[in-house]
Amino acid sequence: MERYEHILVVLPHPDDEGIIAGTLAAYIAQGARITYVCLTLGEMGRNMGTPPFANRVSLPSIRKQELIDACQNIGIQDLRMWGLHDKTVEFEDQERLDERLLATISELKPELIMTFYPGYSVHPDHDATGAAVIRTVARIAADTRPIVQCIALSKGCKEMIGPPDITHDVSRYMPQKQAAIRAHRSQFHHLVGDSFDKPDKLARFTKERLWTYKLS
Ligand SMILES: [Zn+2]
Repeated sequence: MERYEHILVVLPHPDDEGIIAGTLAAYIAQGARITYVCLTLGEMGRNMGTPPFANRVSLPSIRKQELIDACQNIGIQDLRMWGLHDKTVEFEDQERLDERLLATISELKPELIMTFYPGYSVHPDHDATGAAVIRTVARIAADTRPIVQCIALSKGCKEMIGPPDITHDVSRYMPQKQAAIRAHRSQFHHLVGDSFDKPDKLARFTKERLWTYKLS
């Protein structure tokens, strides 16, 4: 794997980081410092636990703690919760969001930013988050721009954007990854079903795929 000193992760929901938790744990093991900007608290989520233990009122604080626990399991050193409204990232004031992202990038000077691939990430919040990152990075002079690597999830995305140029085998980091995903207790069953109990289903979690975004 490539080595990075500072990585910025920008995702909208607590539990999104589970998708790349093995990659993040691997980078941390190599000495990287990771800042994770999580845009919302996922407070509009419909899952209240299986069996339910959360409700509309308690869900935001529960998801906040779950996120803190998940980041601890991965080893993420710097978690920033921006507290934007869940499910409405696409309606945020773009200029304000972009300015805040730009300020964060200027502060941290990450070599790598990880986010969702705009247009190919299934949830409107995912697409809006990726789009904001791409707009913001595009404003930075080409010779000082960080690399942007994206998660794409939509069915058939490979036909549109090509195959992922990065595939990480994260088998060694499965303990951290599983612990991070399990930390989202209110979402866990919805996220993975019984996959963690079935070796054949668990296998698909050992590969993490990313697309380097080509900024023109
Ligand atoms: Zn999400």
